[in-house]
Amino acid sequence: MKRRSFLTKLGAGVAAGAVAAPAIAQQQPSVQWRMASSFPKNLDALFGTAEQIARRVSEVTEGRFQIRVAAAGELVPPLQVLDATQAGTVECCHTAPYYYVGKDPAFAFGTAVPFGLNARQQNAWKYFGGGNEAMALLYKEYGVVGFSAGNTGTQMAGWYRKEIKSVADLKGLKMRIAGLAGQVLAKLGVVPTQIPAGEIYPSLERGAIDAAEWVGPYDDERLGLYKVAKFYYYPGWWEGSAELTFFVNEKKWAELPKHYQAALEGACAEANALMLAKYDARNPEALRKLIGDGAQLRALPRPVMEAALKAANELYDELSAKSPHWKRIYEQWRKFRADQFLWFRVAESSYDNFAFTGVPASERAAGAAKAAAKGAAKGAAR
Ligand code: CA
Repeated sequence: MKRRSFLTKLGAGVAAGAVAAPAIAQQQPSVQWRMASSFPKNLDALFGTAEQIARRVSEVTEGRFQIRVAAAGELVPPLQVLDATQAGTVECCHTAPYYYVGKDPAFAFGTAVPFGLNARQQNAWKYFGGGNEAMALLYKEYGVVGFSAGNTGTQMAGWYRKEIKSVADLKGLKMRIAGLAGQVLAKLGVVPTQIPAGEIYPSLERGAIDAAEWVGPYDDERLGLYKVAKFYYYPGWWEGSAELTFFVNEKKWAELPKHYQAALEGACAEANALMLAKYDARNPEALRKLIGDGAQLRALPRPVMEAALKAANELYDELSAKSPHWKRIYEQWRKFRADQFLWFRVAESSYDNFAFTGVPASERAAGAAKAAAKGAAKGAAR
């Protein structure tokens, strides 16, 4: 009897659930948005992240919230997707906030500030260090809300037709470079220009520019830059990491059901992790391929790095006098960065410096001796 009444109750519960589920679903409206990406389809780590967000949002809302992703230039020019989102031409966009430093230099904090945070530290700042709140005040002025939505990790310093052996070699160098880094390099004589991905190769090929940075091996290989400028430098001191943002027009955001807002916010957080993982997984093989195709790998000389750091710090003080948003965010961010750098020097960087060499010191010494002997033999044979 007891068992039967339990089953009856269970049956009633299942029936009630079966009735309730479609009733809830019917309350959810059908929403169709357009998202403008700043990136072309052939850069699948970047463009694919926007598609990943749209796909997940659709899955989580059982297909009721659909976002159609448009590639660079399809709906609006690649570096104007934020303007289009602000104006409501599109509901949302996927871009790098630092493309908009011409509006306000503080947009750089949303992507990368030269000598700034690595990807882990950027996430720490955005999610737990006051970064999201700091950026929201800036974004509000442009009628948008923003969510972290992808990171490239530390970038390369790009492709050069000629070697960079000293600071003097930068003088007069026409270079494609994004964000605040152009303003830093301008202090060292570089003539910077910020052009979208699709224009980099032809500009280098016809000599309109002498050098160009984009992201790192995986993307750069796809852009084919090694064919027109063979010296490939590292590290990209202007992008210890580079974060992308998913911007939504604030009115459109407010109109969304809470469930859809949660779906979108979750999809962005997921994309933020997946994009970085994809670059980390794909870059080693791409770098090997680039070197196989003739790319000449070079480290930026330390004096060049030091001159750039000095110029960057000068620029930051100048920007504090020009932009209240920069001043406000920079003061908070700088303290956070100092703490992060100190902490990362303890465990992270000690671990990295030891483990990344991959072999014990005794084996490295043996390897070096072998290489020296080989070099001497080659010298004697000549
Ligand atoms: Ca870059």
